[in-house]
Amino acid sequence: MRMLMVPTVFMCDIHLRLEYHDVIFLAKDLNKNDFNLDILLENRRVEPQNIKRRYDELVVELVNRNEDYSQYADELPAYTYGGGCGEVDKKSSLKRLMKCKRCRECMVEAMCKLSGF
Ligand SMILES: [Zn+2]
Repeated sequence: MRMLMVPTVFMCDIHLRLEYHDVIFLAKDLNKNDFNLDILLENRRVEPQNIKRRYDELVVELVNRNEDYSQYADELPAYTYGGGCGEVDKKSSLKRLMKCKRCRECMVEAMCKLSGF
């Protein structure tokens, strides 16, 4: 389970959907008594304080790319957690995504747009 927390325009459809599902699983797992959040926080893999904001960002990008995505978009489950803020290692997320050819293409497209090419 991992939140990537990088700009969604840098991500291919597959990685967008993977993070989308991970955010939902994280919200579900937070409701379990025996869920160990600390290890994920220590490894800088999640930001539980940003679940809702990130979920919304991912859904907006998915629907922007394909309106059909809105048909199977799950509702983010209600969740509670006992505090603890995380900070995802975003540089590590980018390095991970750079290994994906489709993500690299998305990053080039985003940077071209940003640069006015
Ligand atoms: Zn990718």
